[in-house]
Amino acid sequence: MIYLDNNATTRPLPEVVEAMLPFLREEYANPSSVHQFGQSARHQVECARERVAHVIGANPREILFTSGGTESINTAIRGALRLQPAKRRFLTTAVEHSAVMGVAAQLAEEGYRVDYVGVDGEGRLDEAEWEANLTEDTALASVMHGNNETGVLFNVARLSEIAAERGVPIHVDAVQTAGKMPIEAADWPINYLSLSGHKFHGPKGAGALYVRRRTGLHPLIIGGSQERELRAGTENVAGIVGMGAAAEASMKDTVGGMNKVKEMRDALEAGILERIPFARVNGGGSPRVSNTTNISFAGLEAEAILMVLSEAAICASSGSACSSGSLEPSHVLQAMGVDDRITRGAIRFSLSRFNTPEEIDRVVTELPRLLSRLTVLAMNCE
Ligand code: PLP
Repeated sequence: MIYLDNNATTRPLPEVVEAMLPFLREEYANPSSVHQFGQSARHQVECARERVAHVIGANPREILFTSGGTESINTAIRGALRLQPAKRRFLTTAVEHSAVMGVAAQLAEEGYRVDYVGVDGEGRLDEAEWEANLTEDTALASVMHGNNETGVLFNVARLSEIAAERGVPIHVDAVQTAGKMPIEAADWPINYLSLSGHKFHGPKGAGALYVRRRTGLHPLIIGGSQERELRAGTENVAGIVGMGAAAEASMKDTVGGMNKVKEMRDALEAGILERIPFARVNGGGSPRVSNTTNISFAGLEAEAILMVLSEAAICASSGSACSSGSLEPSHVLQAMGVDDRITRGAIRFSLSRFNTPEEIDRVVTELPRLLSRLTVLAMNCE
């Protein structure tokens, strides 16, 4: 199998699994228990907090553990808005992940004014529109760092500066960048940042929310006094320890590791463009997360492409949601103004350090033959 779907999830590192196992077997204590057994679990949770904080250049006291990116995002947005109930505007972008989009839609139903800043054909955010929509009435702005479909990076340093100048708190969805590239949250004037363990070779069901010192937050999940009363519920100790181990591993050679991944991504892209004349890269003209490429095969349907890839044991993804047999065009590519015919054949290839140049060669060599089956079919159906 050739796994090129690492933006969906990544393979847990062997050291992550090893670190987790004792907490699923003999070290099962509750970290809130005062006995020594519990305190040993507490110690491991706190070590993991330090490691996760290190990945984003934060202080451990600024890290809350959650069940993943989605919970972190929901907590940040809901928790920040509740601090300023009189302010009724929420600002985000047209290309966010559904975790942000879903909350934004709910806020609109509740009477908030929600504005979505647009992007250009390369996925670049309109900074003037961003600035114009940060008003006195804006309770929070939320922006992603790296796009999960195209990998396009937003200039969070600049966007957060603009928000800070206007006194608007900001949340950053860094789920696709944390652990993949260096981040110094302390250098950005941001208030909240979400990350997720399973996107950087940690376990699923473990995430974190950075809450900058002296920034308030209303808890979303109420109950016990865990996580400084900001996120109730007995900690997922094994998951947290696993995410800590993944964080530590990611810090060892973030830049070198990702340069290798970038070389493979670029080779994949170049090889496909050279062999398939109707292929084009979406967002290729922008700075991107180095593991991601989104390639459209004009005139073909993503679902059919994924099927032939899957038969050849190649795992990739489409940005579109496939529900009851109908493929919905990606809101990200639509926001970029990509033609519908091109959007429908968009495939996301997302790599990791587990991939090899040999795998990339195989995909590049096999793809024209796999797609030719579909083009013959498409011509017969016309
Ligand atoms: N935000 C982005 C940009 C993502 O890509 C994802 C997952 O794909 C999420 C949020 C949600 O993260 P999780 O799967 O940990 O809930």
